[in-house]
This record gives sequence, structure tokens and C-alpha cells, in this order.
Amino acid sequence: MSDFIPFLSLAPQHEPLRAEVLAAVARVYDSNWLVLGEEVAAFEREYAAFSQVTYCVGVANGLDAMVLALRALGVGPGDEVIVPSNTYIATWLAVTQVGATPVPVEPDPATANLDPDRLPAALTPRTRAIIPVHLYGQACRMPEIMAFARQHGLWVVEDNAQAHGAAFAGQLTGSFGHLNATSFYPGKNLGALGDAGALTTADAALAQQLRVLRNYGSQEKYHNEVVGYNSRLDELQAAVLRTKLPQLPRWTAQRQQLAAWYNHYLADIPGLHRPRTASGATHVYHLYVVRHARRDALQRYLTQHGIGTLIHYPIPPHRQPAYAPLALPAGAFPIAEELAATSLSLPLWPGMSEAQVATVAGAIREFAASAG
Ligand SMILES: *Cc1c(COP(=O)(O)O)cnc(C)c1O
Repeated sequence: MSDFIPFLSLAPQHEPLRAEVLAAVARVYDSNWLVLGEEVAAFEREYAAFSQVTYCVGVANGLDAMVLALRALGVGPGDEVIVPSNTYIATWLAVTQVGATPVPVEPDPATANLDPDRLPAALTPRTRAIIPVHLYGQACRMPEIMAFARQHGLWVVEDNAQAHGAAFAGQLTGSFGHLNATSFYPGKNLGALGDAGALTTADAALAQQLRVLRNYGSQEKYHNEVVGYNSRLDELQAAVLRTKLPQLPRWTAQRQQLAAWYNHYLADIPGLHRPRTASGATHVYHLYVVRHARRDALQRYLTQHGIGTLIHYPIPPHRQPAYAPLALPAGAFPIAEELAATSLSLPLWPGMSEAQVATVAGAIREFAASAG
């Protein structure tokens, strides 16, 4: 179908940058220096400046970034970490990979972000850290989360994989927590040409620990102070990310314009819930997620009309077979389960047109009218 509207197309971002990105690749190729060199150091400086933090440490991917953060903070077996009940499973995997226990907290159903009012009920003497996730690109209510953490002596690690450039009360995500993780997986708002991730922090000592942990626990070659990882950002990916980073504000503005068009064209459709942004938060629309009671039928209808959609996420982590050992039963986190049953992510990517948004919205309106 010629007028198929895919869920995501990277082509409009990549085609105009083709010559610049290939020149960056050639620069690394010709340097013959491929791991932990000048490109990584330069990207770390540039991403730190973008994030308005002092330090950035490049790593292999977003999951590793969170694992390294928890390791650097000394979180491990016997410790509990508060996580959203409705996040991508990576947030939980980081906690279990360091041997700690994830303690899920339900989101505010209006925004799908961690509800700070529910933190006190999750607190135990074993709680060591909170991982707020800026889900879909909307900043969490970080000032309240940080105040709670300060009051109870907890670490905060933001999962900023979906929200590069979002802010709460004017402060950027990735600059609130003690250590903050992000991903540059290709489909994220800032994406590499493969896997990549980073941590941001204001703490010099923690940044130095992360540099050691990502590189075999070694500061000086063949001298290993701690049990580390091999989780380095490649020179090639760093060079590509350096080329793309200056475009990010423009791409974010396009995402926000597309979301505004969706909000307009999807207004007043009975039974359809559009995304809401909390007061004080900005949203960079990694995803534009609507909700509908007949979500599966809506998704089928859109597929039949040549419109690609995805579900973020169809099964909450506590209902995944991988986490059966945690013995968290169905019904334990009803808001997460409701969101999993009703959420649908619509096509949105920089370069998508207003006409395409109107086509998607028109199909949804038809579905709602026919479904009654
Ligand atoms: C993508 C993502 C991750 C994991 O990032 P990877 O680079 O794929 O490991 C973690 N958390 C959230 C919320 C994500 O969207």
C-alpha cells in the first residue's frame, strides 16, 4: 500500500544527515582508534552540556547504564528499589541484575508516570533507591520524588531513556537524580546506529566510579580495583551521536507539533483518552499513547487501514513469566494492568506530516463511530 503510515520511520531523520554521519564514520575509521577515545570524550562533554549536568559517562546501552548506576551506589542483595509498576522491563531487570528486589509503585493514571503520593506506602527499612521513569517522554514530578528521597536517605536513579530534553519546573530530566541513566537505542528521541547509552551526574566521585565499572573495574590497564563490566560506548556510535545531538531540539519541537496536531484532530472522540501532561512537566513525545477500552479492536482496525501502531507495554513486568519467582499475582497492580490492556501508541516521528496525523485520527474517529 503506497500510503501506508508506519509506526516509525527513521528515514526523514537519517537522509538529510547522510553525508555528515558518513563523514563522522570515516573520521573514526581513519583514526584507527575505536574504543574509549576522543569521540566518546567529546560526546560525553556535549551530552553533559545538553543535559545541564557536570558529568556524562558513555556506556553500551540503557540497561547497562542502570545496572552500573545501582552498582556504583552500592545497591545489591537484600536491598529494595522502588520502580514503576508500568515501565519497560529494563527498569526491573537492572534491579534484579544487581541482586536487589524491585518494589513496584503504581502510576498516576492521568499521566502514566510514577505517583509520588504512593511512595510512602512502598517504603520499608530495606528501601535503598527509587528509579523514576519519564515514561513516553513526559518528565516525572521530580521535585516531590527528590524531597521524599532526601527525607528517607534514598538514592534516585532516573530512567531517562525516553525523555531526552524533557523538564520539570524548568529543570531537565537526567539532572535531578544522584545518577541518571539513558539509552540511545535507534528508536529513542536521540538514537545511535545500534546500541548505546549514558549516565549523567553532578557527582565527580560517582562519575569516576562509573568510568571504572564500565571498563572492567580498571582505571589503569590490567589493574582491577573492583569487579567491573565491559560496557563501553563505541567511538563509532559516539561520533554518530555527536552528529545527531545538535538536531535533537528541532526533532523534539517536531514531535511536540505532531502531538499538538493529534490532540486537535482527536478531540472529543467518545471513549478515547488522549495523553495528558502534568502541570509543571514538559513532554517530548517519545510516544503518543492513547487509551481505549476496545484497544485490540482499534489496533486491528488501524492495521486494516494501513496504519502501524505498537503497544507500550502489553504485559506489565509483574505478569511476565521472567518475574514469576517474585510471586506478584494478577490484580496486584490494577492501574498497570489497566494501562497494559488499553494503551495504544500511534505513529509519531520527526518528518511525519500533519496530513498523516489527520489520516490516523480520521481512522480512529471512524472506528469510534462504528464501534458505538
Ligand atoms: C529503551 C529503554 C530502556 C533500555 O535501553 P536499552 O538501550 O535498550 O538497553 C530502559 N528503560 C526504558 C524506559 C526504555 O524505554
